[in-house]
Amino acid sequence: MAIDATTNTFRIIIVGGGIAGLATAIALRGPQREIIVLEKSRMNKEVGALLSLQPNAQKIVEQWNLKDILQRAKPTAERQFRILDTSGKIHMNIDMDGEKYGADRMVYHRQDLHSALREAALSTELPGYPASIVTAAKVVGCDCETRAITLADGTIYQGDLIIGADGIHSVIREAVLKAGNHELVHPAPTGVSAYRLLVETTNLAGLDVDKEVFDHTRQATTLIMGHDRRVIMGPARNGDLLGLVGMVPDEHMHESSTPNSWTTPGHLSKLLQTYHDFPQWIRDIFKQAPDIALWQLRDIDALPTWIAGRCIIIGDAAHAMLPTQGQGASQSIEDAEALQAFFADTTAKPNPQQITRRIRKVFEARYKRASLIQAYSRQQAKPATAKGSVKVTLNPAEFLDYNCKYEGAVKWLEQQEAS
Ligand SMILES: Cc1cc2nc3c(=O)[nH]c(=O)nc-3n(C[C@H](O)[C@H](O)[C@H](O)COP(=O)(O)OP(=O)(O)OC[C@H]3O[C@@H](n4cnc5c(N)ncnc54)[C@H](O)[C@@H]3O)c2cc1C
Repeated sequence: MAIDATTNTFRIIIVGGGIAGLATAIALRGPQREIIVLEKSRMNKEVGALLSLQPNAQKIVEQWNLKDILQRAKPTAERQFRILDTSGKIHMNIDMDGEKYGADRMVYHRQDLHSALREAALSTELPGYPASIVTAAKVVGCDCETRAITLADGTIYQGDLIIGADGIHSVIREAVLKAGNHELVHPAPTGVSAYRLLVETTNLAGLDVDKEVFDHTRQATTLIMGHDRRVIMGPARNGDLLGLVGMVPDEHMHESSTPNSWTTPGHLSKLLQTYHDFPQWIRDIFKQAPDIALWQLRDIDALPTWIAGRCIIIGDAAHAMLPTQGQGASQSIEDAEALQAFFADTTAKPNPQQITRRIRKVFEARYKRASLIQAYSRQQAKPATAKGSVKVTLNPAEFLDYNCKYEGAVKWLEQQEAS
């Protein structure tokens, strides 16, 4: 059903069709809302990697009536988190308590989750109007005053509300910071790079490892800690795939990643050289990966603001974080829910003051929490030293509770105001 655009139509432009942008296109669906997603890629080759939705985010997507669509994305629930050393000694075995947090931690193939969110954003069966997604639409400029968005081919889009969900190298972040006369904030290398591999588990049948130490059929995330290198791995796609991430300090890399790419190819021989002192069975798993991708871990400092006029940035554009807690995508889903919650009572087009007030509420509800999780993710990779990071005082167990007990932006803000 196409929207009947009238002067009373609330026109929302979302820049970026990644997890944050698509989740927001679902969350904001409603009567008399025209939602346009501008995505620079052709959306036909999402990168192969695993991505988890932690209970705080899984709870939210389950509330969006996406059960069937998400089921087709073949998520795998994680039941345990295990930490081993390189000798195979188990140091920690934490049972993940889905009941305690209201949802399980679910692991998806990034492509599957992306396709499911896209299907939901475009679905004619969910309430509200489906979004339109314009691909090959690279945004090169945004005027926060007039809310005019310029594409590389010169096309201009104008909306009542602009949402920048254009990832870590965000163009909209630059526009928002410039509009407030703030210094620009750029992604900074963190001194750590990561290898990313996906292995079909049918190739692991003959793996020579004690099943107590590692069993690829176990619904568990396993972290193997070396002195300064680590491997984290877990199953996805109903157990058909095992995803692995190897984190290595840059000075121990035997090859280099391209700073702005998620997909620099890595080389097996160099990977094996880097992990020469890890157990043979892990090195045997590495050998089964058809491709090896390499990416330099970058994040950004907490920003002075996420809003200017009627523009707001969300997701990695606002709070790109290291993957050490697996909260990157989950925090984006929380942003989408916050926008949904603070615009829930607008059935027609809100006036400019109402829009400004509501995005300010979103910022107030989300900023402190996202910045703290961002700082904690950085601290887990190495001590937080950079300016702009928030001081972290919680221990890891408290932080798991802090991350996962979240019950939505409105409740969160009320709790914050009451404390
Ligand atoms: C290809 C890829 C692979 C990733 N792999 C991992 C991983 O292995 N581990 C991990 O922890 N995180 C990974 N991430 C990041 C993770 O997906 C994000 O932290 C999380 O999902 C939040 O997403 P986001 O939507 O804010 O940003 P992103 O997922 O980066 O999405 C941003 C979207 O905006 C689009 N875009 C960017 N600039 C423009 C522009 N100027 N005009 C129009 N569109 C634009 C991009 O094409 C992209 O689709 C990856 C991201 C990408 C894009």
